[in-house]
Amino acid sequence: VLLPVYVLISIVIPLLAISSGRSLGMRYRRELAGVKTQILESVYGIRDIQIFSYGAERLSEIDRQNDRINKASHGLLMHRQIVSTLPTFFVYAARVLIIWAAVRLTAQGQGQPIGTVVLSAMAGASFSSTFSLTQVVTNLLEAFAAAERLFLLEDEKSKVAEPRDPVSPGKIRSLEFRDVSFSYDSQGGSILSGLSFSCEGSERIGIQGESGAGKSTIFRLLLRFWDPDDGEILINGIPISSIATEELYRRIAVLEQDTFLIDGTLAENIALGRPEASREEIMEAAKRAGLHEFIMSLPGGYDTPMGQMSQRLSGGERQRVGIARVMLKDPDVVIMDEPTSSLDVLHEKELLDTVKKVYADKLVLIISHRASTLSGCDRTIRLEKGRIR
Ligand code: ADP
Repeated sequence: VLLPVYVLISIVIPLLAISSGRSLGMRYRRELAGVKTQILESVYGIRDIQIFSYGAERLSEIDRQNDRINKASHGLLMHRQIVSTLPTFFVYAARVLIIWAAVRLTAQGQGQPIGTVVLSAMAGASFSSTFSLTQVVTNLLEAFAAAERLFLLEDEKSKVAEPRDPVSPGKIRSLEFRDVSFSYDSQGGSILSGLSFSCEGSERIGIQGESGAGKSTIFRLLLRFWDPDDGEILINGIPISSIATEELYRRIAVLEQDTFLIDGTLAENIALGRPEASREEIMEAAKRAGLHEFIMSLPGGYDTPMGQMSQRLSGGERQRVGIARVMLKDPDVVIMDEPTSSLDVLHEKELLDTVKKVYADKLVLIISHRASTLSGCDRTIRLEKGRIR
């Protein structure tokens, strides 16, 4: 009599609970991620939101998203209530079944009144452990949904394949783009077409071109974020696809338009690429990047927390943190992508003079649309629609 009830409570109901609650859990997680993204975006973009008087609209967007998350959470709670109430219903049904069986046995002259009472009490107690199984399942629905989102991310295929037997190029002495063509997606137009150039030693190469000409794409290919559709990129004559990306990142450093500061101290920010660097090494890098006096003028010096301070650093000071950071990492190649775009002419010249001094022994690629940024380069490659002009 009790067997079907056990099967129902410990197997059928948990399985049904999982299959019926899966989409509810997913929906809740999706809405939760949505509201988190919206709040993060609003915090990061608060200046633009205020300047463009977008605050009220943004708040109502967050309200709408909150409504959606409340609905999703309500659905999940309802499901949890139903799933946890169902087993109780079947336990009572089991008791009725026991009494029904006892009545039948009594009618056949085999009645056992004490046995019936004991069995009825035991059935209730023994079901309590199977109850928790259903509880666990409903509590896990959200975790299943969160895990599913993580697995989706993990299953995402990388755009490039790591080499099976990586070859180490040693110190980078030369770089070559040989007839390289590339487009970001098959439908999109070609970004680079048959691009060829090479550089070596401690040359300082400028890459100039209008916005959208494909300049930054060159450094993304050099760091193997993507592989070219055609042609080859060679480092010391070795195809880039045979070199482990980890080694590429170690040997090539990028200084972008703006230096990202982490929520640590100034010293930690400078030592981002080499956390084990000593305080003396950090100070030496800051001195050479022309940042030491500024740091010493801060009340906390090198231990000034950047969380509160980062907005008070000028564009030039942030870039100097970036220069010191790259210097400490000591790569073979430095790529600078519009390094002075946020600076005026005077500060641009100062920064470029610093770069010239501190990276004198490195191969430097400077990407810019401004002729003034590239004036100190040994040679300039002019890009137009993905081709050398
Ligand atoms: P530049 O640095 O010269 O301004 P980019 O190399 O950044 O130009 O971009 C060249 C072209 O490729 C642009 O038209 C840009 O919109 C497009 N592009 C850049 N990144 C991506 C991407 N991740 N996916 C699709 N298109 C992209």
